[in-house]
Amino acid sequence: MKFNVRSRGDHDSNVLTQRVKSYLQEFDLEYDEEEPEIVISIGGDGTLLEAFHQYAHRLDETSFVGVHTGHLGFYADWQPDEVEKLVIHIAKTPFKIVEYPLLEVMIRYTNDQETERYLALNECTVKSMEGSLVMDIEIKGEQFETFRGDGLCLSTPSGSTAYNKALGGAILHPSLASIQLAEMASINNRVYRTIGSPVVLPEHHTCLLKPKNDVDFQVTVDHLTHVQKKVKSIQVRVADEQVRFARFRPFPFWKRVKESFI
Ligand code: NAP
Repeated sequence: MKFNVRSRGDHDSNVLTQRVKSYLQEFDLEYDEEEPEIVISIGGDGTLLEAFHQYAHRLDETSFVGVHTGHLGFYADWQPDEVEKLVIHIAKTPFKIVEYPLLEVMIRYTNDQETERYLALNECTVKSMEGSLVMDIEIKGEQFETFRGDGLCLSTPSGSTAYNKALGGAILHPSLASIQLAEMASINNRVYRTIGSPVVLPEHHTCLLKPKNDVDFQVTVDHLTHVQKKVKSIQVRVADEQVRFARFRPFPFWKRVKESFI
């Protein structure tokens, strides 16, 4: 089996990365950065987000597992003192795959020629580079509201514990293939009105954001930031692709939530 190990880049993660790499090579596994079947991410959830984006073009062939060298993570759930056990599991046992939903973000531009497509593991956020964000929001082809405020966050279920949670969004179990739309400081008065609470859309519903003015936008996809000009619309839906995590033992989602937050 081909593998890659990705480090957060700090001293402890780098040392552990070298250990995992040499243990796996001792078991005759092949180190391959181009086409790994399994990627071991060593650091935190942010490190796993980076690993995911590195291999987002081959999600059918690559599985991920995370070791946390800081605090407990949602995607990084193995501890540094367990890496020998993890290596033996990877080398000796066929692993179970757990799949989590992703978001597909399609940005269309006013010239109608180009579109950009991104996959998000946590979320996509949209903010205006100039003044308030003003967007028409369509849900499943119907005008829902005109949003005016700081920004919008559209998250996956596994991303619901990240930025979405800080915005007062609900925590969703990753088995619920869905999009959660959360507001960032909406303006609500006699002129402007939004729903004011997070909204969860099912798998087959599409959310379309249409700018009301010709300004530049800051669009983030997980840890990546893009400045977008001349945007006609931003369409978000549950992606056809899923991310695959290698599971060697049960670690229930609600246990991770409890251990992280309570
Ligand atoms: P960062 O700003 O360095 O760290 C963001 C924090 O979010 C880290 O503690 C990270 O955990 C944690 N995190 C990432 N994914 C998570 C998840 N699914 N559930 C719970 N916590 C999670 O940025 P980064 O490491 O590059 O990560 C990018 C993410 O930061 C974005 O996807 C967004 O969700 C989050 N973010 C949050 C806020 C906010 O809460 N106000 C604002 C901006 C961005 P680790 O320490 O284990 O890496």
